[in-house]
Amino acid sequence: MSHLFYQGRGRKPVLEQARGVYIWDKDGRRYLDGSSGAMVCNIGHSNPNVLAAMQRQMEKATFGYRLHFETEASETLAARLSALMPEGLSKVFFVSGGSEAVESAMKLARQHALATGQPERWKIFSRAPSYHGCTLGALAVTSYTPLTKPFEPMMQAMPKVPAPRAYLDGLDPADPETGRHYADMLDAAIEAEGPETVAAFIVEPVGGASTGALVPPAGYMERVREICTRHGVLLILDEVMTGAGRTGRFLGCEHWGTRPDIVVMSKGLGAGYAPLGAMIVDEKLVDPVLDAGGFAHGFTYAGNPLACAAGLGVLDELARQDLCTNAQTMGEALMARLHGLMQKHELIGDVRGKGLLTAFELMADRVTKAPLPAHLNAHQRLVDLAYERGLIVYSRRTRDGTEGDHILVCPPLILEPAHLDEIVEGLDASLTALAEDLA
Ligand code: PMP
Repeated sequence: MSHLFYQGRGRKPVLEQARGVYIWDKDGRRYLDGSSGAMVCNIGHSNPNVLAAMQRQMEKATFGYRLHFETEASETLAARLSALMPEGLSKVFFVSGGSEAVESAMKLARQHALATGQPERWKIFSRAPSYHGCTLGALAVTSYTPLTKPFEPMMQAMPKVPAPRAYLDGLDPADPETGRHYADMLDAAIEAEGPETVAAFIVEPVGGASTGALVPPAGYMERVREICTRHGVLLILDEVMTGAGRTGRFLGCEHWGTRPDIVVMSKGLGAGYAPLGAMIVDEKLVDPVLDAGGFAHGFTYAGNPLACAAGLGVLDELARQDLCTNAQTMGEALMARLHGLMQKHELIGDVRGKGLLTAFELMADRVTKAPLPAHLNAHQRLVDLAYERGLIVYSRRTRDGTEGDHILVCPPLILEPAHLDEIVEGLDASLTALAEDLA
């Protein structure tokens, strides 16, 4: 009997060892980690340079409480991170994960409104569908029915606007009018709600778990920035999944030159070596909050030196191996191969992504975009079939979280062409088996 429990009862193989893009279980079976865990292990598993950096830190100190000490690791990581941000985002607040980073951003936006004499600004707009984390604050800006519904009475509902899903609405994502069409829904919603009541808008530059690697249409991000500025609404970019090179740039927003007011990161920053997250803030926002009495928020493990040493090691490896470039080139190759699979397998209705944040959506009909019936649980069946073939991919319901099936294919950024072949062969065989299964 196991004393552990997570989301359900299903027992998983016991992980024994992980190296590069591969994981071995206790029975000696090898898996290619085609989802980097949950889009976490961007630099691959067990990188010796990161382990050595952590070892050096471990021998010095593994904990320093943030209200008692700064550490060289946290100071250095904050400086290194701010140098990678759009200009002016130079204040870093460390946390231990993505939900904590999102909560921090929501609270900072609220405290900034208070500190600048705008006490009526508290609403944080987000999109539907979206996923920003599982704590009650982060859930309030999440729109994903299976995860939010049980807790509705316990949360302050926050306003949502539709995520731009041009492929479902029959619009051309390359046409700037499409981006404008969706962004204008935000504009109208803020107007309807009363701009003076809105503190921030939180958005993922490329949709992750909830929408499955959905890339915004042309002009969308630029227009969103303009709308937020016009209404005095802070733009929070959730780069928890897109950050740390995943989309082929260090931050996803770099593809559109978007300048956020706050960035939140986690996943690929600690890259599986340590629980680490960060909120990186425009310096202009921080002083008013600190002058007004301080930021009323913080976590015991914030800025943990061992986690920060891991983060520094990860940044070194991203740069040393030029992994953003590899994510871009291998991402293009992967997208081309997924389109090839789409030609062969009727079940694939859409392929999308940026860099190595890629996905395909299973559909009943790719012309009408009709989803497969939810009871078939096609996405989970495909994941299980791939698992049996030694390939790990990540799936979720898409659309509103109750229907639609997407599969995220997001291997570590150290991916080589031979690994890519292995992924495509595994998916090809699994899709064939799924089609037979559903027939
Ligand atoms: N934001 C986004 C975009 C995410 O993908 C996730 C995790 N899937 C989170 C926030 C929450 O991160 P965590 O699970 O580390 O709390």
